[in-house]
Amino acid sequence: MKRISVFGATGSIGQNTLDLIARAPEDYDVVALTGASNIDRLAADAIRLGADIAVTADGDRLGQLREALAGSGVEAAAGAGAVIEAADRPTDWCMSAIVGAAGLQPGLRALRHGGTLALANKESLVCAGPLLMAEAARHGARVLPVDSEHSAVFQALAGEDMAAVEQIVITASGGGLRDWPLERLAQATPEDAGTHPNWDMGQRITIDSASMFNKAMELIETKEYFGMPPGGIDTVVHPQSLVHALVQFRDGALMAHLGAPDMRHAIGYALHWPDRRDLPVERLNLAQVARLDFAAPDPARYPALDIARAVMAGGGLRGAVFNAAKEAALDLFMDRQIAFTDMAPQVARTLDALEGRGCLDADTITLDMVLQIDREARDLTRGPVCVGD
Ligand code: NDP
Ligand code: MG
Repeated sequence: MKRISVFGATGSIGQNTLDLIARAPEDYDVVALTGASNIDRLAADAIRLGADIAVTADGDRLGQLREALAGSGVEAAAGAGAVIEAADRPTDWCMSAIVGAAGLQPGLRALRHGGTLALANKESLVCAGPLLMAEAARHGARVLPVDSEHSAVFQALAGEDMAAVEQIVITASGGGLRDWPLERLAQATPEDAGTHPNWDMGQRITIDSASMFNKAMELIETKEYFGMPPGGIDTVVHPQSLVHALVQFRDGALMAHLGAPDMRHAIGYALHWPDRRDLPVERLNLAQVARLDFAAPDPARYPALDIARAVMAGGGLRGAVFNAAKEAALDLFMDRQIAFTDMAPQVARTLDALEGRGCLDADTITLDMVLQIDREARDLTRGPVCVGD
């Protein structure tokens, strides 16, 4: 039996993970499930799957969680610290699917068991990629990609030598505002940006898809996972979301990974790796698909991409600043305090401000450095110098 924990179990990725686990409960020993606000779902899943412990990140909800678990034998805990401590419970496989930088510390702790960290939480790699990978190496643990594009690249690279790779291209749907006239983008509401043409995902990543901050994060994620130089990483708009990534080899071969837009493929691949098992994922019929479209992204529509390229080129703590500033700018947009088109300039300003102070270069990144710069970047982004100045 595989001992598993799911961090962010109540979210979109978490629920898809539990769906796969519930199909073969005899194969899994569920250790910890974590959530935040959705206590009923967390408790019901913990009871249904026989978890040892259920943890909510919301410290005020311990009573509610205890009540929901009463008589079940499942332990309850609450608070950000309790989520991190839950990762100290040994597992063979751990899903990191908390949204945001809050996913970093549980992931780092889970690596200490030397098993597999299935990483959906791309923020971990963006803000502290070298730290996470070094921790994995130190404990003989494996980080497997769950983001669909990176799972696709990982699969296309199986058995290949990175020296033979010329370029990695990840695809982007273009998001929910893809066909809006540029001049209307400033009026987009969180509801407009929070609808995705192809994927059913959490609200934050859906808005990040519309701004392409999600793709910007994924460019950085590609660098950190595969050690690819920034110049060899690109993205292309592909509205159908059926080709997830392409790997260009030096001999001219271009390997593409295709599949229905269903995260259970990438999650299932990471769950069963190195085997491939049957997964409840729709099969593509290419005659019915009929056409696949591709286009270069317009930098004026998606300024986040150029910011990410500068972050990749600079390295150091720039990824941590980029991620924190992006999260804070997204909060402001979701609270209707800034416009959709203010997010990228806001992030760029925060990066410039910290660059000016000369505190972003670091040969070795530590957790303390990441946490500190994360706080500074959030404060600066939320600060009074903002919109349209
Ligand atoms: P959701 O918003 O659907 O779920 C987020 C999860 O994190 C929920 O369980 C939520 O709890 C929990 N959570 C929220 N805030 C905190 C916090 N401060 N501390 C601890 N837990 C918290 O997000 P997604 O499932 O869409 O995304 C999860 C991660 O996976 C993100 O990093 C995203 O970028 C990545 N990803 C997602 C994809 C997708 O298809 N959804 C595709 C590729 C990557 P609760 O709901 O109970 O409040
Ligand atoms: Mg993705």
